[in-house]
Amino acid sequence: MTDLSTRPHDDDKFQEECGVFGVWNATDAAALTALGLHALQHRGQEAAGIVALDDAGIFHAHKGQGLVGDTFSNPKVMAALRGSAAIGHNRYATTGETALRNVQPLYADFAFGGFGVAHNGNLTNALGLRRNLVNRGCLFQSTTDSEVFIHLIAISLYSTVVDRLIDALRQVQGAYSLVALHNGALIGARDPLGVRPLVLGRLGGEGGAAPSWVLTSETCALDIVGAEFVRDIDAGEIIVIDDKGVHSIKPFTKQQDRFCIFEYIYFARPDSIVEGTPVYQTRKSIGAELARESGVAADVVVPVPDSGVPAAMGYSMESGIPFELGIIRNHYVGRTFIEPTDQIRNLGVKLKHSANRPMLEGKRVILVDDSIVRGTTSRKIVEMVRAAGAKEVHMRISSPPTTHSCYYGIDTPERGKLLAAQHDLEEMARIIGVDSLAFISLDGLYRALGKPGRDPAKPAYCDACFTGDYGIPLTDAGDNQDRQLSLLQAS
Ligand code: SF4
Repeated sequence: MTDLSTRPHDDDKFQEECGVFGVWNATDAAALTALGLHALQHRGQEAAGIVALDDAGIFHAHKGQGLVGDTFSNPKVMAALRGSAAIGHNRYATTGETALRNVQPLYADFAFGGFGVAHNGNLTNALGLRRNLVNRGCLFQSTTDSEVFIHLIAISLYSTVVDRLIDALRQVQGAYSLVALHNGALIGARDPLGVRPLVLGRLGGEGGAAPSWVLTSETCALDIVGAEFVRDIDAGEIIVIDDKGVHSIKPFTKQQDRFCIFEYIYFARPDSIVEGTPVYQTRKSIGAELARESGVAADVVVPVPDSGVPAAMGYSMESGIPFELGIIRNHYVGRTFIEPTDQIRNLGVKLKHSANRPMLEGKRVILVDDSIVRGTTSRKIVEMVRAAGAKEVHMRISSPPTTHSCYYGIDTPERGKLLAAQHDLEEMARIIGVDSLAFISLDGLYRALGKPGRDPAKPAYCDACFTGDYGIPLTDAGDNQDRQLSLLQAS
């Protein structure tokens, strides 16, 4: 049976594929981890897992498909996840199997003891590595790219866990923010370009007591457990947290950071502070820049909720055109599996969004959204706004045209399905059905992030889905790159 557009997340958006959380030296490590994963639910809704380590050195694990609240609502499950250290993972996957064996954290028993790992990102040489490892006799248990970490660590000739991990990281290419747990430490690692986020937080520690330490994808997961933000983990940095404190290792040659610029536009939760920048404020600045670049006479600025809201606020403030919630989002759309008839397919967008007619009727409307991927949802929303009586509809997008797929941990359609890869601006406007369409420019986006513009020789962010400038080689890529990469599921 087909999963339709009534799914709670929007299949006409790029989708963040994972969130990670790890905690060391906490009384209720698994409970804190479940809370952290709950705060990171927007980074993955398909499955969640926790691996906890108790004081006797025994690991306990629980994984399930579905939302964090469903997977960890049973008190018996939580009670069994004993220990003062834990790591957890949220997973998103649209294609291929979402079988339990792919749900992270991955765990294995080595000669040096147990080792669990949770990975946000996607490896771009995992297919080749996997082939070599299988030829050497490694038995893979899942189809996730992250499992190569386990096998590379297993066969490493180094003696300590950290040296084995560094040895493994030297062999992989791609984007990764990891949290890992073994008997002696909680470990965090970020790829040399720092594509995906990872932050360090601290909880308690007053009066000379040893604090709890948290490693997680976003600061919103620190807030929920009451931890204070300490700092971002640097690109290429490995953090080892043990009973003696926090140790930093930087084994890679320093490179220009290329953090994912789309985290600011859409993926990160608006209350998170990412790489020192508040996401909500940044989205408002992007909206203001968009208004400066592509102003148009109108009566009202309307966001496509929820992700378009801060940019629309920024647009409204800059342009002086009133902001109104002309589209209301239904937050209670659950996952429904229904027969894929055309009638139901067309209903999809209406289940999630409805027009607030008095705010639209007879008005010239500026609709603000964060991105256009396939364009199918945009077209339906524009139809809905026109059906509610809007006189004109102008669409403004707070990202540049999405012309390339992402291979660094974001679920994207193949390039041929991206509207902006196939059509020019005029054609896109016609397909979506708007009176005018404008995207923020690449330089405008960089300006909204406090940069003078994009330096093509040394871009400050990963922006490959807008430029095709992939900072990390797509080693697995070939003639059939999309098919090959889809064989291994990102994390
Ligand atoms: Fe982010 Fe786009 Fe780069 Fe992927 S390609 S990491 S979505 S900026």
